[in-house]
Amino acid sequence: MTNISGLVGSLKANNKSDVAIVQTCLKLIKTSAGSPFLSGSIDGSFGKNTKAAIVAFQDKYTGDANVGAGIMGAGGATIKKMASLLPIGKKDLRALPGQSRVYIAGSPNALAQSKLKISTTALTPSFKLSINAVIQSMYDKHKVVLGLAVKGGRRTFAQQAALSSAVTKAGPGESNHQWGNGADLGFVGLQWFKGNGALVTDDTWLENLRKTQYSHYIKFWDVRDAVATKPPNNLFTIRTLELIHLQAYSNSNYSASRSLAAHLTNVGDWTWSAIPGGPNRYACNLGGANNVVVDCGSAKKIFQGNASITAKEIETAGWIRPTSLASAAAELLDDIDVKPSPIGMFGAAAPTPPPASASLPITAADIAAVKLALQANFTEAEARWKEWKPVK
Ligand SMILES: [Zn+2]
Repeated sequence: MTNISGLVGSLKANNKSDVAIVQTCLKLIKTSAGSPFLSGSIDGSFGKNTKAAIVAFQDKYTGDANVGAGIMGAGGATIKKMASLLPIGKKDLRALPGQSRVYIAGSPNALAQSKLKISTTALTPSFKLSINAVIQSMYDKHKVVLGLAVKGGRRTFAQQAALSSAVTKAGPGESNHQWGNGADLGFVGLQWFKGNGALVTDDTWLENLRKTQYSHYIKFWDVRDAVATKPPNNLFTIRTLELIHLQAYSNSNYSASRSLAAHLTNVGDWTWSAIPGGPNRYACNLGGANNVVVDCGSAKKIFQGNASITAKEIETAGWIRPTSLASAAAELLDDIDVKPSPIGMFGAAAPTPPPASASLPITAADIAAVKLALQANFTEAEARWKEWKPVK
């Protein structure tokens, strides 16, 4: 319900947000002649135009003791009458504290829809709870509905790899979005009034507000961040990179590349480490016998099956060429899901996998096989995304 928080009138408190709300009412409600009560613009400052418009409104509608004085208070007859005369769909006007950009309160239905979308999005359980709590408290405090941007939830490795470098420098496995710990939480259908009373329905990123009224735009994000980053929600922003993004961990407390390397090592048989840079590169031991890691290139290249790996590096790592028989035997054991027994499945001696062959010399087919195996490590890391943990 449209209301004000303090007195509006000559020499009164005239909180900017209160004055702006009154001005918007006086723009939306028409005189008997069919023109708005307020001819000036909505700017949140009380002046003679605003005073004259309030006086004219009170004269016509309220007839209370303040007629002629142009003074109105919280929950008083004048603001109640204004609220009752607002057009359908514009009944509940709000403004952020200290701000003059008036907007229409989001509906409970829009809030429910936004939360429903979160419930069906793949995020870690604790992050999902936090995001829902941010949405709820933003609504409780300011009647603003927040919601996920398009592709703002968990992104697959392929989706991350497809983003242009202008959008993000993070490769597949390097963004919180891959691990269900990051979300792009913007504004759902925020409708705000320009100074001349025209209504604008903005997009998730508030692009209209950004283009025309930058200081107001920033204020909306400030308020969202105040809700998101303070207890009990305690989420983190990356404001200098992307205003819309929220995440469960602070960038200063964990390393995206070291966390990815640790996760790759954890879910597979090969050992990985991160080489920081732009882009980060990843080194791997290729499961080799030499206990040494070699540079395999960026996350994007490895994920796309195009690791930058040379014959020399494969030799250095001591990679062992799997024989097709050995892999067939391993596959068989995998499929029947039993430990090899000395007696074997069919009463005969169990097949003994042939020894893996020495790796020299490395052929083009070997390099292709290593690239595929490196890619498979990333595929496995993605399949087990829920097991990712932050590493400092
Ligand atoms: Zn993001």
